[in-house]
Amino acid sequence: MRYSKKKKRKKRRTFFLTFALVCMGLSVAMAFSMGKQADAPAILNSKAANTALPLISIHRQRHLRIYINVPIGEDDSWRVQNNILELTLSHADASAAFPAEEQPLDQHIGFRRQGGRVVVELELDKLPPVFYFMKTETGYAIKWLDAGLAGKRIAIDPGHGGHDPGAIGQYLRLEEKTVTLAIALELKAMLEQAGAEVFMTRSTDTIVDTTLQPGRHIGPDLWKRYELVSEYSPDFFISVHNNSWSDRFAYGIETYYNPNSLNAYHSKRAAKAVQDELIRELQRYNRGIKRKNDAVLQVDAPAVLAEILFISNKEEEAMLAAPDFAGRAAIALYEGIAAYFLDPGGE
Ligand SMILES: [Zn+2]
Repeated sequence: MRYSKKKKRKKRRTFFLTFALVCMGLSVAMAFSMGKQADAPAILNSKAANTALPLISIHRQRHLRIYINVPIGEDDSWRVQNNILELTLSHADASAAFPAEEQPLDQHIGFRRQGGRVVVELELDKLPPVFYFMKTETGYAIKWLDAGLAGKRIAIDPGHGGHDPGAIGQYLRLEEKTVTLAIALELKAMLEQAGAEVFMTRSTDTIVDTTLQPGRHIGPDLWKRYELVSEYSPDFFISVHNNSWSDRFAYGIETYYNPNSLNAYHSKRAAKAVQDELIRELQRYNRGIKRKNDAVLQVDAPAVLAEILFISNKEEEAMLAAPDFAGRAAIALYEGIAAYFLDPGGE
């Protein structure tokens, strides 16, 4: 499941200012106390059950500053490589030495010790506004990007495929896998036109985990998608689906994000941006943004899963089957992603 970060680092564009925080052995108690000390609402609080994730509390304050509080340890060190600042934090120990003051990375980034923590201070108004969290081999990184779509790495996951048709409409026998791929291909073209780089989990009518036997649960296929996307290390991830329910009167649009991911804050904003545009373009019932822990939503990037209309609903199946539908849905997704990259942290 682990993937090579070195390989990915080489691929990273040099103008991205990336900021790595490594934190091992952080106790839950420490995380909790840090959360309590934040004087503004903590907006990132990862709580995956089996991993000792550090709590990084980030809060916007006046002058658009972001404060990142991390615990520090005895053997901590840091280095700058390819515009990545990596803090290596062995464990939460207040007496640790940390050479931050000796080697300022950038005039807009300040470090200071405060109790048992290192406080990293960044002036967002002087830095590119797009940032998100990612796992590294040893810890966690924060990546900063310029606003806008140009140069962004975007992963698109057309739901289902091959012997997994997804949901099937009762009236036209329309298959979800066909609709999701058509939307994804249109979206890919639009994003590339805007200068983004696009990765697709599939571009043809195929299942992604080709070892999966027909009729088996698609769980392994979802994890395969997660693996491929993680390896690509996108700046944004979107999975495209159509909804289905036993109640054939269910209808509308909903967009999911993972509330327990490292990027819950950004994923929620991304979900809202995508959902808003889908509603605006398609003029269908707004079921809102919702929470889900799907395998594909575990990727370390702002990640959303759009459920675009109910294929189980007669009227919406007909909409999905219309020749211009994929293009309309793709425009909505495109506008949502573009809006997110214009102001991912905006209130
Ligand atoms: Zn689906």
